[in-house]
Amino acid sequence: MNISHIEHIGIAVKDLQESIVYWEKVFGLKCYAIEEVKEQRVKTAFFMIGQTKIELLESTDPEGPIGKFIEKKGEGVHHLAFAVKGIEEALAETEANGIQLIDKTPRKGAEQMDIAFLHPKSTFGVLTELCENKNLK
Ligand code: ZN
Repeated sequence: MNISHIEHIGIAVKDLQESIVYWEKVFGLKCYAIEEVKEQRVKTAFFMIGQTKIELLESTDPEGPIGKFIEKKGEGVHHLAFAVKGIEEALAETEANGIQLIDKTPRKGAEQMDIAFLHPKSTFGVLTELCENKNLK
């Protein structure tokens, strides 16, 4: 697999606005985008740290994935996302290694990225996302 860097770390929060204030005030970072991803039933806010982003995720629906996560585990780190080149090949390779995939084919995530998740049951509890920004090519 061709991983270039940690693209982002996804963090589940109850209140996007409150947590944006925290990240801006305490770490001096600037939220550069807020985007709703309807399909995932979340509102996201992004910060840049070097090459890596912090993605804050607020649920827009208690039955959505982030709503359920917070209900079960509370706020906190939700997933880790690797930037890969050739996401289709990376997924095929991962599956060939016996890892359970949540997404067998990539779908569109925030920021127009192609994304796919690996199942935390296969990844020692770390919900792992592979993503590729095909606009960069
Ligand atoms: Zn993500």
